[in-house]
Amino acid sequence: MSRNKPPIHFADLNPVERKEKVTQLGLPAFRANQIATHYFEHFNDDVQTFSDIPKELRANLASELLPKLLTKVRSIECDNGMTRKDLWRLHDGVLVESVLMKYPDRTTVCISSQAGCGMGCPFCATGQGGLTRNLSAAEITAQVVAAAASAFNGELPGGSTRLSNVVFMGMGEPMANYEAVMQTIRNITTAQPDGLGISARSVTLSTVGMVNGIERLIAEKIPVTLAISLHTPDDELRDTLVPINLRWKVKEVLQAADKYEMATGRRYSIEYALIRDINDQEWRADLLGKLLKNRNAHVNLIPLNPTPGSKWTASRPEDERAFVRTLESYNVAVTVRDTRGREIDGACGQLAASEVISAQEK
Ligand code: SAH
Ligand code: SF4
Repeated sequence: MSRNKPPIHFADLNPVERKEKVTQLGLPAFRANQIATHYFEHFNDDVQTFSDIPKELRANLASELLPKLLTKVRSIECDNGMTRKDLWRLHDGVLVESVLMKYPDRTTVCISSQAGCGMGCPFCATGQGGLTRNLSAAEITAQVVAAAASAFNGELPGGSTRLSNVVFMGMGEPMANYEAVMQTIRNITTAQPDGLGISARSVTLSTVGMVNGIERLIAEKIPVTLAISLHTPDDELRDTLVPINLRWKVKEVLQAADKYEMATGRRYSIEYALIRDINDQEWRADLLGKLLKNRNAHVNLIPLNPTPGSKWTASRPEDERAFVRTLESYNVAVTVRDTRGREIDGACGQLAASEVISAQEK
């Protein structure tokens, strides 16, 4: 399997570069606006259907500017069709996944920023296979555009909706593929037709705690919602649960998140996967409460979704309740994340991992 760079795509370029590229192809610059309208307003990348572009120009545009980056391998639905997980094959055979979730008040897509992940968190399916490669901006953007198309076309029950939220909580560590993720965020948040026109606050970037990335993000001045995967308040356990903690400690990560909060005015989230008898003890809830009581943070507790063969499992309900109560006693905002997609291996990387395993078994 060759793992070449994906072909350059319209969504890899900024609006100025798009015009330059179109001009290089011998077309007037205004064609870039037409393409942007098809792609970001109508979620259409099938150049053959672009009736405002002369037929003889279309083949070249397709190969040079709108190559097909994602091929659907399969979709799995659950929650009465309100959750759909899509498995995609990239140009070099690599697999990634995205999950589309419809709620009464919003439609959210969870996207992958890398194929695999190099961060090695032992409870995570994606982490177990290591990093295969970074995705290009257009490969990440294409997941969002496909989701917007599905939502708009009414593929989920209840009819047509607008894709309203994007979360970087699929495979990969977004801060480890910074440039491509930033270009994707610009594609998502720029007004139509040059982007999808989704508000920055409706985009959540979840990071394992790469402080260098958080600092770069502050300088971008695009106030996306930041989520920090903390998983425990003490360095000793975090060194093993989230090995990047060997480089950036709990205190440094929270300080970087505070800086982000001050620069953007945006409350941040703390992600905390509750693992039975590992990080769910009362004293850890107490320590977390002390750390967060004067911070503008919101805790998302996620019942662990065990990976195949994992020795770990989700916390007992009574321990989960006690954890919530302790945090609340410090006036820390806390919610237990709903477990959408659980029966379709909803947690990060699990569908792609099971596809690789079944392919190996064949
Ligand atoms: N790499 C980024 C974003 C992708 S993971 C990060 O780690 O933040 C998205 C979220 O899913 C993270 O909070 C991650 O810790 C969590 N997660 C990974 N594996 C999980 C599992 N088996 N059960 C529950 N949550 C999991
Ligand atoms: Fe990578 Fe996030 Fe999984 Fe850790 S939890 S291995 S950072 S995808």
